[in-house]
Amino acid sequence: MTTQYLDTLDHFINGVWAQPTSSESQTVVNPATNKPIGRLGHASRADLDSALAAAQAGFNIWRRVSAFERGKILRKTADLMRQRVDRIATLLTLEQGKLLAEAKLEVLGSADVVDWFAEEGRRAYGRIIPARADGVRNMVIMEPIGPVAGFSPWNFPVLQAARKICGSLAAGCSIIIKCPEETPASPIEFVKCFQDAGVPAGVINLLYGVPKDISEYLVASPVIRKISFTGSVPVGKLLGSLAGLHMKRATMELGGHAPVLIFDDVDTDSVATLLAGMKYRNAGQVCVSPTRFFVQNKAYDKFVGKFIDLAKQIKVGDGMDPASKMGPLANPRRVNAMESIVLDAKEKGAKVQIGGNRIGNEGNFFEPTVLTDVPDNARILHEEPFGPIATMIRFNDADEMLTKANSLPFGLASYAFTHDAKTATKVSNTLDHGMVSINHFGIALPETPFGGIKDSGYGHEGGIEGLNAYLQTKFISHLA
Ligand code: NAD
Repeated sequence: MTTQYLDTLDHFINGVWAQPTSSESQTVVNPATNKPIGRLGHASRADLDSALAAAQAGFNIWRRVSAFERGKILRKTADLMRQRVDRIATLLTLEQGKLLAEAKLEVLGSADVVDWFAEEGRRAYGRIIPARADGVRNMVIMEPIGPVAGFSPWNFPVLQAARKICGSLAAGCSIIIKCPEETPASPIEFVKCFQDAGVPAGVINLLYGVPKDISEYLVASPVIRKISFTGSVPVGKLLGSLAGLHMKRATMELGGHAPVLIFDDVDTDSVATLLAGMKYRNAGQVCVSPTRFFVQNKAYDKFVGKFIDLAKQIKVGDGMDPASKMGPLANPRRVNAMESIVLDAKEKGAKVQIGGNRIGNEGNFFEPTVLTDVPDNARILHEEPFGPIATMIRFNDADEMLTKANSLPFGLASYAFTHDAKTATKVSNTLDHGMVSINHFGIALPETPFGGIKDSGYGHEGGIEGLNAYLQTKFISHLA
């Protein structure tokens, strides 16, 4: 056991930290070594029933706490997170693999999410509609939707949980959140910040187990009024259909395959530097990571050459080692997926310019990889890689390239680099994605809407949209 890791990984139900009652459990491993660092028990049916009862009771209390008071508690939570950043980030790196510096940024960025919702909860405004008759007041009020079931993934264990918990709490909802089994300790320490800031028992319930068993049970429960899931498209479709079956509102943040368009008029060195940094952050396990690089003909050689130079310099190693510039992948599934995607591209004629291989026999390390000359039928151009692979595609004709950029079922993030205002306007109007960022990496802030279209899901987790996701509209017509 690693001494810095948590000795016990408790669940949090009705304000009490305790081991779940099921006899099932799983090992938690450090992705840098694949050695066990902890043991995580699974929630039983009885635990789920306790969490549902707690979430209902917690909702009855929390919805009556004023938005002003809720905001104070959330702000205190954010302060505690900033005080505890080193501890939470260390746990995050030990269980997820990312660089400690990235883990700290994740915790601090999540504290900003908490702060944003602390304020925004006070602005859940309704409206008055002019009445047709004297003495009638037509009012629209926004109410918390009810207890929420949240399912968050392992790539950003704190941030993804923060978006769901804070949207719920700011709106006056309670939540049962199933955080990722691979990375349980950082969400545990994160939830402790809410508890220590004064969130009443039952308002947040945190548990772990077999994802399918938990989601099927919670989504079907009449207690749960809203579902929020972040993860892969197939699981999103499954949960979306379950939510439909039980008439539950849902937010689905699913995968992406982000195109990035690099036009001839840009400074290729500075754009390559920015994009290489973005591409290999969190070892590419980011749903908005740039994955398909469409580079215009004249810029292509210089851009790709510089990008490869930068990727070569990335030192891959344990996230706890300050010399590392990219950590391991979060689990062996991702390494296998990278190997299979690269092999498929190679067999179909792609050139592996750098990387393409796992590193060593210990941990889930994979080389920063750049592919060129990738044929259209290669899997990498259709499946989300979710790892450290960049695919370079040369283009001449902008219209043809835009058609390709829009051709996949995904529609999450997209990027373009050009100083030509006409091109920028055309690109932002044409890209069929939920988010378009031009000339910088400008998405995923607490105050801006974050969400996809098409197979990438529906609903948003930031901005005023991220609060509305947990509110329902009530119309009241009152004749005095
Ligand atoms: P996966 O599809 O098995 O799981 C994805 C996530 O969904 C995990 O957190 C898992 O615990 C959860 N999950 C799985 N089945 C579930 C169910 N029936 N009910 C509730 N939750 C369930 O894949 P994986 O191997 O863990 O991750 C690989 C893929 O997931 C990637 O290719 C990527 O597309 C996607 N992913 C996306 C994000 C994101 O931020 N959108 C984050 C993590 C993973």
